[in-house]
Amino acid sequence: MLCYFCALPVDGSICQSCERMLRPKFNWLPALPNICMGGALYAYTPVIQSVIHGMKYDGNFKLGNLIQRAIQFSDIPHLYFETDGHVCVPSHWFRQFFRGRQHIPFLFDIFKGQNLDFSSLCHRRRYSRASVGLTRKERLQSISQRFKWRGNSSIQSVTILDDVCTTGATLSAMAKLLKSNGIENVYALVIAHQPLDKSCKNRST
Ligand SMILES: [Zn+2]
Repeated sequence: MLCYFCALPVDGSICQSCERMLRPKFNWLPALPNICMGGALYAYTPVIQSVIHGMKYDGNFKLGNLIQRAIQFSDIPHLYFETDGHVCVPSHWFRQFFRGRQHIPFLFDIFKGQNLDFSSLCHRRRYSRASVGLTRKERLQSISQRFKWRGNSSIQSVTILDDVCTTGATLSAMAKLLKSNGIENVYALVIAHQPLDKSCKNRST
């Protein structure tokens, strides 16, 4: 057989070198506005990219299983389990640009059983206008106008969960929204960090 990721001949379905890339290795993200601590579980290697793309664009959750199962409690700093709330970037956040982001709660399955309710803390308001033709800044502004925090007032700290961080613009915009709703400390945890110089300008999130 050939390795699913790199197409080298292999006994099973994934070669050892690609298998190694599926093991998380936590790193802190560079400082981001409105976020106390940001971290990523993987570098954005071709293997991780192909898992995330397979889930995001082809709905291939079997591929996502490789990451979901690889992530253990010990891979994640405790502070991420200790925040009062956990929010996945909402599935409608980039509705016009992506097909849905149900892959995020799936990948962060490790947080389930922590008494967490990913889905209910942000609530989408009706669209006021289409985002087509807006600059990125305008788009982020229009996004934050569309989302309303509806978490309990006892929630003082929140971890935002997302798939890929490039510029951190999405995380910062969401953190700003949470802070404007009275959340004191916002943390961010993403699957992969893709440093800006490697990313395509129009896709940076
Ligand atoms: Zn391989």
